Amino acid sequence: MAEAINKEERSLNFLEEIIEEDLQAGRYQQIITRFPPEPNGYLHIGHASSICLNFGLTKKYPGYTNLRFDDTNPVTEETEYVESIKDDIRWLGFTWKHELYASDYFDKLYEFAVALIQKNLAYVDDSTSEEIAAMKGTPTEPGKDSPYRNRSVEENLELFAQMKAGAFPDGSRTLRAKIDMGHINMLMRDPILYRIKHAHHHRTGDKWCIYPMYDFAHGQSDSIENITHSICTLEFVPHRELYDWLIEKLAIYPSHQYEFARRNLNYTVTSKRKLLQLVNEKHVVGWDDPRMPTISGMRRRGYTPEAVREFCDRIGIAKRENTVDIGLLEFFVREHLNRIALRRMVVFDPVKVVITNYSGDEEILTSENNPEDPNSGMRDIPFSNELYIEREDFMENPPKKYFRLAPGQMVRLKSAYIIQCNEVIKDAEGNVTELRCTYIPESKSGHDTSGIHVKGTLHWVSMKHAINVEVREYDRLFKVEDPTDEEGDFKEYLNPDSLKVVTTAFAEPALKTAKFDERYQFLRKGYFCLDRDSSPSGLIFNRTVGLKDAWAKESKKS
Ligand code: ATP
Ligand code: MG
Repeated sequence: MAEAINKEERSLNFLEEIIEEDLQAGRYQQIITRFPPEPNGYLHIGHASSICLNFGLTKKYPGYTNLRFDDTNPVTEETEYVESIKDDIRWLGFTWKHELYASDYFDKLYEFAVALIQKNLAYVDDSTSEEIAAMKGTPTEPGKDSPYRNRSVEENLELFAQMKAGAFPDGSRTLRAKIDMGHINMLMRDPILYRIKHAHHHRTGDKWCIYPMYDFAHGQSDSIENITHSICTLEFVPHRELYDWLIEKLAIYPSHQYEFARRNLNYTVTSKRKLLQLVNEKHVVGWDDPRMPTISGMRRRGYTPEAVREFCDRIGIAKRENTVDIGLLEFFVREHLNRIALRRMVVFDPVKVVITNYSGDEEILTSENNPEDPNSGMRDIPFSNELYIEREDFMENPPKKYFRLAPGQMVRLKSAYIIQCNEVIKDAEGNVTELRCTYIPESKSGHDTSGIHVKGTLHWVSMKHAINVEVREYDRLFKVEDPTDEEGDFKEYLNPDSLKVVTTAFAEPALKTAKFDERYQFLRKGYFCLDRDSSPSGLIFNRTVGLKDAWAKESKKS
């Protein structure tokens, strides 16, 4: 799968085709796109896809991308979300031209609404939302005209001004476009443009008690910013007709809307509302929990922006809704980390090895930081007569073709010597407590004159030099591919084993100076990064991803 993707030359996606044609026809000098998040949660992998698309287009073609907070709903929006969104976009590696807020256009939008009333294309409706719904009709039956539909322009102007002035309670009146209650597109049946809501707004404070609906704010904001290509997800296809109608009737800059399919990942949920539930109900430690599909979660988990961008680029954009295998995202993460990660040795579940014929106190060996990167240099690894190896790398009664350590058997210790196990020491319960071994002095890595060939190479640490660290191993957040498609609440399908904490791990001393921006490959274990919960006295590492796709193997087995 992966190789096929790598070899394939990427052809233009449908938006690139449209833009190239637009540029060739001279319709635009530059392409202006926007990324319009609603600041009601943290961004997730689906948003990353939209960010890469919008910013990617204006990187490729002349032009720029605005960051516009779609903050027209006063109730759910918070400044914390605004900051996190900016942080995440920067982390992904993109720079916006202007930081804008739909709420900055409230005055302008109000003027647009007045202009529509003056053209007799909008009216104040005193119906309740239930009455409006009842008059809406169905896809096969036309709706009914509101009894307030034929108010005079003057009366509408007066009532709308009073709405703005706070004369009416919430929900008592709306401003509606006057289009056609028999329209086959239900969204064109006199859609609501403004509602009354006496609510405090995170930017405009208490200045407004009427707020524009999405359809009225969005296209007009695009137009104000001269957005050429306004890209949104497929659920907005039926809204396009209204988008165009408003722009045409207001005779403002003609932005155009284009739709692409939402990106979903399996074994997780990509909806801010659902992710918020996971946070509020403490199923995860926060928006940046490394198991979350949020950008901040992926960042804390150790994913790199390069890998996330590559993933978004390679899955491309589609016109039909689909779910992408999370294994593909992990593939790109693994591929990038293999190129940049520093190799280190960490023993998770140690058993003691004593080298009985090692007379020196200790010596300093060296090993390359990253065989994939010739510029990464070497690191020192102290060797001594007391070591730890992984308990699972020893077997007292091994089967044939067991190449790890066993009584009488030899293995190589990575970047060090060949050792042979001679004696197994156990406690009263029969647990192995110590392996007494001898080493072959002539077998030092890089200077091996022993002539002995062994098949197994193990990772190890020197006991007295090693540091005890905590390792957090993550698995899929959900047990099923699509938790929202199952019976009952999606949270019933959370994977109870999505976090395993290992407290018994011992790391080679080079990790004492681990840094947040470095990535590590723990030999034979996977890719890891330092977690922000670390302190100088206690280092904590997150497993970013394993060395291989464990799930692919599982499904092949069954
Ligand atoms: P959610 O349902 O998670 O709240 P949203 O669409 O309400 O998502 P917005 O903040 O309104 O979130 O979205 C900002 C932009 O990101 C929009 O242009 C939206 O179309 C796009 N977007 C959101 N989710 C996805 C997704 N899963 N795949 C692709 N684009 C997405
Ligand atoms: Mg939304």
